[in-house]
Amino acid sequence: MIAGGRSINYLRISVTDRCNFRCQYCMPAAPFAVIPHHDIATYEEILKITRLACEMGITKVRVTGGEPFVRKDIFSFLERLCRMDVLSDISITTNGAILTRDKIQALMDMGIKRLNFSLDTLDPDRFAAITGRNRFERVWDAIMSAHTLGMAPVKINTVVLRGINDDEIAAIAGLTRTYPFHIRFIEYMPMGESPMEKQQQMLTTEISEIIEAELGPLTPMPHKANDGPAKKFQLQDAPGVVGFITPISSHFCSECNRLRLTSRGTLRPCLLHNYEKDILTPLRNGASDIQLKGIIQAALGHKPLFHTLGENMPKNIPISHMTSIGG
Ligand code: SAM
Ligand code: SF4
Repeated sequence: MIAGGRSINYLRISVTDRCNFRCQYCMPAAPFAVIPHHDIATYEEILKITRLACEMGITKVRVTGGEPFVRKDIFSFLERLCRMDVLSDISITTNGAILTRDKIQALMDMGIKRLNFSLDTLDPDRFAAITGRNRFERVWDAIMSAHTLGMAPVKINTVVLRGINDDEIAAIAGLTRTYPFHIRFIEYMPMGESPMEKQQQMLTTEISEIIEAELGPLTPMPHKANDGPAKKFQLQDAPGVVGFITPISSHFCSECNRLRLTSRGTLRPCLLHNYEKDILTPLRNGASDIQLKGIIQAALGHKPLFHTLGENMPKNIPISHMTSIGG
């Protein structure tokens, strides 16, 4: 599938809008309604849409949410996904809080080689303040289990916010000197009706300056096929990698190979544009495979050439929070 000159081979599947955490930057500040269960795509429906998308060129899938592991029977869904031979790469983004060592081993046994954990602080009290949950130790244990079981690379996503965790930038980057982790600093994207304050946002230039001032030079690394949008660097003598994902300061739209399937069964060609195309209703109404593929193609026709978040604020802020789209 081609969209605006870009070959689309990567599907991000959000299996749920629900989460066991309440991260300040991801969830609405005010009480909010979750999607009713009957409006959420069943696993059967997700697998069908994925199979059709694969026939059109998708080869990589990331499962996300909300928190994917809070959805019932997620392991049997993942097993079925792993049996799709056409998929060369299946990964999962998780907060890790309910991933025990045994569950991580089960994921590895079914063929999942990569997990991305989210971790914004190394301080348990601050962790509770950011996520609304006192679960630092459990998340750290899950990360260490993934590491000691041999999952490689273990990736850690860190969203940096001024006044919240910017004093830990060097400590978090410094983990790459001890562990072969890929730490990826992600620029905060203002989303939904209650975005964080503009002055809390930190751009990559500032983050990398802090790392270099405290830990020494960051040496750029060559870009490999599975790197996605991260720009990768290494600290001297570090087994791990420091990456930056820069949707705001330097967008990577011209290389974006992604299509999203939200948990309510809509196709979203761009995270930062509100356009979504419903594929679940036609599927439930008996649309043929050819018609459903037409819907996928039509959705991609709306993939913008670039996003405008950061310009003309706050008008261009996406209306949904990350948790309901699928990060
Ligand atoms: N619950 C899982 C987790 O936290 O990894 C998966 C879903 S979460 C929405 C996926 C990623 O999106 C997380 O790494 C999170 O830090 C990131 N994220 C959420 N809201 C964000 C925002 N407004 N800007 C940048 N990243 C955000
Ligand atoms: Fe949940 Fe992940 Fe969003 Fe945190 S970032 S609230 S863990 S979906």
